[in-house]
This record gives sequence, C-alpha cells and structure tokens, in this order.
Amino acid sequence: MLLIRGGTVVDRRGARREDVLLDGERIAAVGPALDTTGARVVDAGGAYVIPGGIDVHTHFALPVGAVTAADDFASGTLAAACGGTTCVIDFAGAGREPWEEALATWHERAAGRAVVDYGFHLTVTELPEGQAGANARFREFAERGVTSVKLYMAYPERLMVDDATLARALVASRATGVRVCVHAEDGLAIESLIASALAEGEIGPAAIPSVRPPSVEAAAIRRVTELANEAGAWAYIVHLSSADGLGAVLAARDEGADVHAETCPHYLFLDQGRLAEPSDEALDYVCAPPLRGEHDRGALWAALGSGALESVATDHCPFTRADRRRGTAAGTAAWRNFTEIPGGLPGVETRVSLVYQGVRDGRLSLERWVDGIAGAPARLFGLDGRKGAIQPGHDADVVVFDPQATRRLAARWLHSRSDHSPYADMELTGWPALTLSRGRIVATAGEPNDPVPGWGRFMRRSPLAVAARAQTA
Ligand SMILES: [Zn+2]
Repeated sequence: MLLIRGGTVVDRRGARREDVLLDGERIAAVGPALDTTGARVVDAGGAYVIPGGIDVHTHFALPVGAVTAADDFASGTLAAACGGTTCVIDFAGAGREPWEEALATWHERAAGRAVVDYGFHLTVTELPEGQAGANARFREFAERGVTSVKLYMAYPERLMVDDATLARALVASRATGVRVCVHAEDGLAIESLIASALAEGEIGPAAIPSVRPPSVEAAAIRRVTELANEAGAWAYIVHLSSADGLGAVLAARDEGADVHAETCPHYLFLDQGRLAEPSDEALDYVCAPPLRGEHDRGALWAALGSGALESVATDHCPFTRADRRRGTAAGTAAWRNFTEIPGGLPGVETRVSLVYQGVRDGRLSLERWVDGIAGAPARLFGLDGRKGAIQPGHDADVVVFDPQATRRLAARWLHSRSDHSPYADMELTGWPALTLSRGRIVATAGEPNDPVPGWGRFMRRSPLAVAARAQTA
C-alpha cells in the first residue's frame, strides 16, 4: 500500500485537499483522513495529485515512405512516463495494408516494450461495399478491444477515403459504438494548391501553410460533420489547428452534430513563422495540419478553457534531423520539395506541462487542465471507469505534479529519440515529480525510475453506448 499524502487532488470534479491510497495496481481510497497503518508514504505537500495523462494520438515507429518515426514503443512510452502520461492510444496501420496485419504488427511492436499502458485506433482506408459488411468489420474491431478508428480526408495516394466510405463508417459507428476519428483536411483541394505552389517554384517548407490553409480544414470538418449528423453518429476531429476549423466544429454542434475535437500543444504554442526560417531549422516544424497564427492559438486556448474544445493530444510523430533532410522518397539523398519532408513533431513528454502553462497564464482552470489531458480522453475513448480520474477502483495511474518545478526544454535531456525539440529553450514552470503506472513508480522528477519494458499493458476498450440512439433509427 502506498499513501500519497498532503497533496491537492485535481480532476473533473474539482480540486480538494485529499490523500490517495493505492493498493497494488488500483486506487483503494481517496479522502481527507484515511486509515493508512502500514502504508508507505509519499509526501505530496504543495503538489497536485492528478490522474495520469492519456495521450490518444501517437505514432510510434510509424514508417512514412523511406523514413520511420524516431520513437518506438520503448522510447515513446518512456518519454510519456517521464512527462506524466500513463496511457497512450497509437494509430495502428501505415497505409493500405489489411487491418488484421496492421493490428498484429502494432501488437508485436508494443508488447514487451511499452512501459505504460496503451491502446490502438485502427487506420481505416477501405470498408466492405455494403453497410452490413462495414458494420461487421467494426464489430470485429470491437471484439479485439479496438473501439476507435481513424479515417483520412487527406493524402489521396496513401490514406484518403471517399465520402461514401466515410458515410458507411459513420453509420457503422452508430450501429456498433466504435468511435470514428477523422483527419479533416480536404485532400483534393490541397493537391491542387500543392500543384500550383510547385509550378510557381515554391518548393521549400515556407509554402506549406498556404497549401494547407485553415479553409481546407474547415471545409473538411463541415463535410464530415454533415455526414455524421445524417448518420446520427458521434465523430471526433483529430489535431484541430485553426480558428476556422473550430468555428466549423461549433457550428456543426449547433446543428445537432455529436462532434468532439482535440488540439495539440504545437497548435497552442508554435507559430507558422517557424516554417519560413531561412535555415534548415524550418524542417523541424513541418507537420500537418501546419502551424498557424496568433489568432488561431487564441481561439484554441479560449475553447479549451471553456470546454468547447475537449482534449489535447500530441500527434507525437518525430523524425530525426537526418531523416527530415533525407526526405520520404525512396532512392534520393535529400528532399526535393516540401511534399517529401516527413511531417510530425515530438510532444508526448511535454504535453502535460505545456498545457499546465495555460493554468499559470489564467487561460485554464485546474479542472479544465486535468480534464483536457486525462479526463476527457478517457471518457471519449472508452477508458472511463478505469483511467482518467482519481477514484477508488480506478487504475493507480497517478501523477504527483510539482507546480514549482522549472524546466528549460531541450532535446538533450528529454527522453524521446528525437534529436531536436520544437520547444527548445522554452521555460516551463510545473513538471511531474512522480509518475505511477498501475501503482508502480515509473518516473521520478522527470527521469525514468527503473522502467520495466513490457509493464505497459494493452487496454481493451469498450464501445460507445449507442443503444438509446440506435433505437430511434
Ligand atoms: Zn496523427
């Protein structure tokens, strides 16, 4: 038994002075005066005691053309633990391979390596033609504990689905409770903007914001939320980046769509001006959707503060500097235009603290911070009742967060295999003092604590409750 004593417990229900007693892998009791005879004591005086972070958007060991994301499940989950995240949901599938193969590959990559718990979303690039077949496919996913999928409205050559497939997925979602996540950018509009930019000789990363403008994000969100509304289905927009995109989410909600959204720390902190830096450093900031402007960051922070925007995930998908320069095309030594620069930023280790800066700046309440990084992801992705709250019976995924600890971010001491950090030299106040994964201390003061590869377990997740909605069909 382990007693976390004297801290301020924070979750969705508020902040209160309570002790937390852990028994083995579970939270046994929470309260102001627990009988704790014989328990080992951790002094959490002056600290916040919060549920372990849940990052529902990572890409560990993802191959993209000729290069592969820098973190695998070992380094990625270790970085997560050091930054206060105790559960990740990674996207299984790299392209158009059969889903059984994708799932088997991802299980193989994670098992025996992960140091915190993990789940999978399946990337869906095709579905059986008929609705019954699509529904049956989704049931097979759910039987394997994979209760969310992702469909892409962008990347025509690798991943994009047409609207008919998207519509079938949404109807299947309603029938089965498997959640649909969408990469919402209008892929065909982007292709034509890319062609124009390249024809003009704009081949460097500075062109990226103008070929993937907020309008293509908003347009895709309008399309998918309309389809979701017609299907009476739940939909989740991943990596929402812009004020226009946010506007489309809120408008769809006003029309009755059951739509949810996440943003990522890089859209809250980093400016698109980084992509115009003259040196090779601009490559370090390539991601999709691209970084945006100050107006967008302000809108996203405000929506996160109000709860209109529910969660923050990272889209963690870093590449080494060598791989960024090398590019994704086979048989070439270096990228030839911006379409060949691998896109994706590190984030899994810095998310909890970065979002906490919003509390310090007065943009977020403590409750909104914790709900955005743990509570909402748990509720939205079928982990409710097990993770995402400090409650008896929940997994003892607990972070003791020291609001006074300071860090100057640098890739040198962070635990991702990325050799650069887009947040380098940022000064943060507030960092995890202790991370517990199912009762085991896996990180202390941001450093690994005797990590056990394979300690992390696959989380079989539950489907969304759909019965009430389905009956009205
Ligand atoms: Zn992603």
